[in-house]
Amino acid sequence: MQSARIVNRLFSGTRQILQFRTMASGKEVTKVDYLVIGGGSGGVASARRATEFGISAAVIEHGRLGGTCVNVGCVPKKVMWYTGFHAEMIHDHADYGFTMKEAPTFTWRTIKEKRDAYIKRLNGIYENLLGKAKVLDVKGHAVFTGEKDPHPIVSVAGKKYTAPHICIASGGYPTFPSDEEIPGASLGMTSDGFFELEDLPKKTVVVGAGYIAVEIAGILRSLGSEVRLVIRRHQALRTFDSMISANNMVAMEDMGIAVDKFSKVQNVTKDANGKLVVTIKSAPTDGAEETKVVEDVDCLIWAIGRHPNTDFGVDKIGIELDTRGNIKVDEFQNTSVPGVYAVGDVQGKALLTPVAIAAGRRLAHRLFDGKTDLKLDYNNIPTVVFSHPPIGTVGVTEDEARKAHGDENIKIYTSSFNPMYHAMTERKTKCVMKLVCLLPTEKVIGLHMQGFGCDEMLQGFGVAIKMGATKADFDDCVAIHPTSSEELVTMR
Ligand SMILES: Cc1cc2nc3c(=O)[nH]c(=O)nc-3n(C[C@H](O)[C@H](O)[C@H](O)COP(=O)(O)OP(=O)(O)OC[C@H]3O[C@@H](n4cnc5c(N)ncnc54)[C@H](O)[C@@H]3O)c2cc1C
Repeated sequence: MQSARIVNRLFSGTRQILQFRTMASGKEVTKVDYLVIGGGSGGVASARRATEFGISAAVIEHGRLGGTCVNVGCVPKKVMWYTGFHAEMIHDHADYGFTMKEAPTFTWRTIKEKRDAYIKRLNGIYENLLGKAKVLDVKGHAVFTGEKDPHPIVSVAGKKYTAPHICIASGGYPTFPSDEEIPGASLGMTSDGFFELEDLPKKTVVVGAGYIAVEIAGILRSLGSEVRLVIRRHQALRTFDSMISANNMVAMEDMGIAVDKFSKVQNVTKDANGKLVVTIKSAPTDGAEETKVVEDVDCLIWAIGRHPNTDFGVDKIGIELDTRGNIKVDEFQNTSVPGVYAVGDVQGKALLTPVAIAAGRRLAHRLFDGKTDLKLDYNNIPTVVFSHPPIGTVGVTEDEARKAHGDENIKIYTSSFNPMYHAMTERKTKCVMKLVCLLPTEKVIGLHMQGFGCDEMLQGFGVAIKMGATKADFDDCVAIHPTSSEELVTMR
């Protein structure tokens, strides 16, 4: 028996999108070759790449196109990091011979408005890119209905969609503690709220030890906010190489961030002037417990992790999640349901924009371009933390290398110096670098650095490491003088 009657064929370029009526529900269903849930970094990249192979694709997005990265992540964060960077340079102007007649003033709203306008432009660019690629741009919240015809049906504002290939690229959202867990927690905000701030908070408490906490604390401090960072253990960025975690603590404290170690926020209240009162309990392993009451706080920011977005009926089609709620995928991004894939933050591995994009594009090639073995290699992904100064890291940490290969098979090269920029300035930020090499060839399996310019320095070294470069290959490359990066090819 025929299960569906075609009621329409919509041609978009060479592709056709079918609208048909199912016998079961009597409702119209739009069928494409590739259906993507989530119009963020991974989803848009995957759908656009897929249409290059002559297939029809649709992207469903319930918010602003561009997802986390464009709207509440990398892009606005980097604009604010540049803003903080300016503030730091201003401190150094006099050291370089500049006299400013009046002390410069900073207006948060000016940069906020320009930043918002830039993001709006990017939202439009994303929309145009989808249009140019003839990707059907579906606005609304996608939900798996649990029906199949024969592929899973996704409903968006009462309309139904299906495809033989469905990619979940729904990203994640910031973790917010409940008021039951921490009384008054809802008086705070997350990184999403940080991007909505209309003014620079005079006094801020940031909670969290990951890169987002470190970056937000650094931005606010560099712009003049009094910042306190609350971390549960002795260091932030503990999953990074130990040299980086240690140096970053010094760098944060040097720039005036007060760090509460071994600490937790116990409760939050609001005073009569609308300011927050944050009670912090510290329990150091080697000292007495202490309770601190921080008053007059303008802004409390929870940067304590992120949760995957899976609350749209994925259980109804039997998609398996891991213990943290991420969608389980194999190395080819296949979920537990045939024909359904997941890329980007929702699968919980390497939560970075270029990772979501690379996985999404490779998936499109695998499904529609005959590259059946193509998959993303999750090793040696270069990462930058936009701290002050920035951190660049790729490959394994020293601890990971020693554990995996044994102390006797690892050789470490380190360097610590004042970048030449600071030879003229009273303000100093140290540059630290480390190469982790595997004997006997001294293949470079880890590179870690923090210092002025390390953010822009990393990409090229990432290529070399991905290609299997050894320490001798590094040394064989003539140094560029005078730069900080020359240190990486001259370490002894
Ligand atoms: C503060 C911050 C700073 C960051 N800085 C960096 C950085 O410097 N460099 C970097 O590489 N990464 C950075 N990231 C991480 C980066 O933003 C993410 O890794 C990336 O955006 C993940 O892309 P994605 O496609 O998986 O998800 P997203 O970009 O989050 O896209 C998912 C989309 O799916 C939509 N969606 C979800 N559920 C549904 C549904 N049911 N129906 C319809 N639409 C739905 C969402 O609205 C969203 O637009 C940062 C993140 C944050 C929060």
